[in-house]
Amino acid sequence: MLKRKHSEMNAAERVAQLLKDYRVVIFSKSYCPFCVKVKALFDSLHVEYKALELDLIGEDGVAIQQTLFEKTKQKTVPNVFVNGKHVGGCDATIQAHQDGRLAELLSGVQYDYDLIVIGGGSGGLAASKEAASFGKKVAVCDFVVPSPQGTTWGLGGTCVNVGCIPKKLMHKAAIIGEDLKDARAFGWDVPEQVVHNWTNMVDEIQNYVKSLNFGYRKVLKENTVTYLNAYAQFVDAHTVKVTDKKNNVQHITARDFIIAVGGRPRYPDIPGAKEYGITSDDLFSLKYHPGKCLIVGASYIALECAGFLHAVGIDCTIMVRSILLRGFDQQLAEMIGDHMMGHGMKFIRPCVPTKIEKISDGEPGFGKMDSGEIVEGEYNTILFAVGRSACTHNIGLDNIGVKLNPSNGKIIVDKEERTSVNNIYAIGDVIDGKLELTPVAIQAGKLLAQRLYKNQTVLTDYVNVPTTVFTPLEYGFVGVSEEDAVASYGKDDIEVYHSFYQPLEYALTDRDNNKCYGKLVCVKSKGERVVGFHVLGPNAGEVTQGFALGVKLGAKKSDFADLIGIHPTTAEVGLHKDSG
Ligand code: FAD
Ligand code: NDP
Repeated sequence: MLKRKHSEMNAAERVAQLLKDYRVVIFSKSYCPFCVKVKALFDSLHVEYKALELDLIGEDGVAIQQTLFEKTKQKTVPNVFVNGKHVGGCDATIQAHQDGRLAELLSGVQYDYDLIVIGGGSGGLAASKEAASFGKKVAVCDFVVPSPQGTTWGLGGTCVNVGCIPKKLMHKAAIIGEDLKDARAFGWDVPEQVVHNWTNMVDEIQNYVKSLNFGYRKVLKENTVTYLNAYAQFVDAHTVKVTDKKNNVQHITARDFIIAVGGRPRYPDIPGAKEYGITSDDLFSLKYHPGKCLIVGASYIALECAGFLHAVGIDCTIMVRSILLRGFDQQLAEMIGDHMMGHGMKFIRPCVPTKIEKISDGEPGFGKMDSGEIVEGEYNTILFAVGRSACTHNIGLDNIGVKLNPSNGKIIVDKEERTSVNNIYAIGDVIDGKLELTPVAIQAGKLLAQRLYKNQTVLTDYVNVPTTVFTPLEYGFVGVSEEDAVASYGKDDIEVYHSFYQPLEYALTDRDNNKCYGKLVCVKSKGERVVGFHVLGPNAGEVTQGFALGVKLGAKKSDFADLIGIHPTTAEVGLHKDSG
């Protein structure tokens, strides 16, 4: 058969034929310095290439450039292809050379995917969508191993299914309950006794969560990301074995991997813990009313769960091993504890559980708590919130030499989130020494994909990340605690400004008079730069979000004082504080 001449083909056919005929094709313009640079790169590698100078072939050049744009979304030259695969422009080709992908493409190694993301939670979904938006072939493996109580859920990871989202909605249920108590003072004719229905709340929240699961699957499809509802384990640095729930196994390969497998709740190593205890993995979809509850733990999850459980009418006791909210400003942590106690929550501290026994059948089973000084109690539900373990133990990391911190099993990464294995990255809760928060995982996932596939260099900034503990009185915080500021700068160099306040919303019923609080921690030698912003009160999350920008940009106490507030808001307290 006779081969058609290039001159007889249309632009699309000509591009396709060139990519078929030549190992390296550079669509170029004769006067373009970047094209010269890219050709010099291939010359230095002693790799032959076909350069088509689009400016020297008249109208055909314009048509080919348009075809290339439709094919690659790249308007400019050089536009480089290796073994039929689009590499990109000058910078992208140099980057591919530097990170080894060019050598792979030249060698003709073909992977199933450019990127496989293990874990379809906050970080994994963000990274996969972003990578796919740059034309990469991406797959996400997400699989939920059932909790010891058998609870399982859909796509989206911890935040959507068993974390932030159902938690915040239950917190909202709690706030509504508190507001109903105040409603009569505002003229609402509500009965003295309003009743909360646990199963109705759970059903509504779970329906919403299911709609989010569906939405995530749809978004992956729209972004041409392949979703595999399967458990992934590394076989080698470019291959994972994936097993679905019917035990079907396949092996798939990729040039790059992102591990975003997050963590799961830990159980204390005591008899009865896994048999009779539940964790946050089970609580948000609990089909029955929890009854009398013991919550073990004293950090975010324990205090938040205790807060909303109590507010919807549940008898709650919190067992605290040492301090409340380790790592947070201890003055505010204790104020939260006092507030919770003032509202009827019970604390056992310091205390750890030693044994749980079932004392009778029923729904839920009864438990009996036996601690150091033989404090015994009977509870319907025992909720463990004693920290989370990274899901790194059964994913074949030992097969490929990804280094972990032996003390917590988390993955060690460099500032670019690269693990000890060159083509394998990790983000989110699974990485060592970083905050376990959804927006952190999302930001890391997006920026990593941009660095890998869009030639960007921006790193995730893990400093001054704002956060909020959604206890009945919310605690918003950015920067450092007073304790940490003193440890870093010395007591004499720290000035603290603070004030107690009562939100106007609480005034008619005199609710929590003077229990709300704001505090700025400033460094004198830095012109009173604010290094810690803390607020305890309603909507503290919303308040803190805005102020966090100021703290990140290096705002000083005088900047806070200069800013005119919005009246009447609770956020005003962030601006006018007395020296403490
Ligand atoms: P995850 O979201 O945990 O996703 C990991 C996914 O990988 C999971 O679906 C897991 O099943 C899957 N997986 C694990 N191993 C494999 C494998 N081998 N193969 C395939 N899939 C696998 N953060 C906030 O910012 N604000 C909050 O208010 C907040 N509240 C929270 C409340 C609770 C009760 C909890 C538990 C957490 C809360 N967090 C909150 C933290 C937040 O949920 C996490 O920081 C975030 O979900 C981490 O995202 P990730 O992508 O690292 O992991
Ligand atoms: P943390 O690791 O923050 O805290 C664990 C708590 O359990 C501590 O109070 C610890 O006490 C206690 N504890 C540990 N072991 C035992 C034991 N054997 N017996 C009794 N108590 C024990 O874990 P969380 O599970 O609360 O939260 C995990 C992460 O999830 C958080 O760090 C946060 O990043 C994220 N999260 C964020 C939220 C938000 O943004 N609002 C909400 C919820 C979670 P001790 O201090 O003595 O060690």
